[in-house]
Amino acid sequence: MKLLEFQGKDVFRRYGIPVPPTGGAIQKPAQLPAALKRAGKGPWVIKAQVLAGGRGKAGGVKLAKTPKEASEIVKNMLGMRLITPQTGEKGIKVGTVLVDKASDIAREIYFSVVLDRKLGCPTIIASAEGGVEIEHLAHHKPEAILREAVDPVAGLKGYQARRLAFALKIPTPQLGVFVKMATALVKVFMDLDANLVEVNPLIVTAKGELVALDAKVTTDDNALFRQKELADMTDIEATPAEKEAKKVGISFVGLDGTIGCMVNGAGLAMATMDSVHLAGGSPANFLDVGGGANAEQVTRAFQIIMKDKKVKAVLINIFGGIMRCDTIAEGVLAALKKIKLNVPLVVRLEGTNVKEGRALLQKSGLKMTVADSLWDAAQKAVAAAGEN
Ligand code: ADP
Ligand code: MG
Repeated sequence: MKLLEFQGKDVFRRYGIPVPPTGGAIQKPAQLPAALKRAGKGPWVIKAQVLAGGRGKAGGVKLAKTPKEASEIVKNMLGMRLITPQTGEKGIKVGTVLVDKASDIAREIYFSVVLDRKLGCPTIIASAEGGVEIEHLAHHKPEAILREAVDPVAGLKGYQARRLAFALKIPTPQLGVFVKMATALVKVFMDLDANLVEVNPLIVTAKGELVALDAKVTTDDNALFRQKELADMTDIEATPAEKEAKKVGISFVGLDGTIGCMVNGAGLAMATMDSVHLAGGSPANFLDVGGGANAEQVTRAFQIIMKDKKVKAVLINIFGGIMRCDTIAEGVLAALKKIKLNVPLVVRLEGTNVKEGRALLQKSGLKMTVADSLWDAAQKAVAAAGEN
């Protein structure tokens, strides 16, 4: 799950990490005067709250010197589609903006905590040359990037934080603040089960103070069960279908195509989507019902897929490993009795008791095409959707 900048900064504030004075997030121009008041004396910075980086260059971060300027900016920004290198060409509609007090920037530093999968521990990545995209820096000037692996149990050690501070040329009077800040950012990473906590830029102000000017926090969905607060936050990126799927434990991502796919196992789901593409079609979704794939989940999966009006055919591709194919076939049939499917259905089963499973489907008298290989199934689904 990705947190918006203002949500990330709320977390930072609770951990004592310095952030700019803020008027908070607003959704309507009428909320602006109160927000400006909360932020304190201007100038202010109005920031589009979308889940994508590179907002600055795309016009999603604007400086306002007067309340009148701020009002103009907010009116234009709310409702606009922000297109950055990370949003895709359609961009993301801005529904919320953050009103922060503008900081007087002397220097921009890059600071992040990421998971180093090779070392199996959190790692700090930092650079005195902040403000630019870290990928760009990694490519053109890799020697400017610092790394510091962190013991997940002991946390960041004082000497490690100081070593970073010297390398980042943190002003000496701020050494203590930096050590606390870096330690707290690692703690945020651990406490939230994050994959990424990024501050770009972490600034040194003209007065020599340190402030986290931006916040990007991404957490691991698999740990949501123990992150009640995060689980209760609305995942603004998720569509209603994705939210519903999440509730019942199905991995679902909506896509642009016309073939609704129901698969068990993420790897098989990816392979199914590739096969559909190869056969000349396009998947309407990624959907993994999980290892269980019982009648209840298959029914839910059908319901979620059928809510998408673009779906012209449904392809079920299930491997009976832990669950036998005949049990899965029973599940599919039970689901089909409950819901009316008004598009063609192609089913491919493989694995334990596949003969019995297919026989059950064929005997049912329900209208469907039984395919006998992944490639056969993909071609039949594409043909059924009228895409080929
Ligand atoms: P993004 O990473 O999406 O481009 P940032 O929050 O990093 O968005 O903002 C982009 C740039 O805008 C920053 O590098 C900084 O120069 C400037 N900026 C952002 N917030 C403020 C602020 N509160 N005061 C002054 N400048 C800011
Ligand atoms: Mg940034």
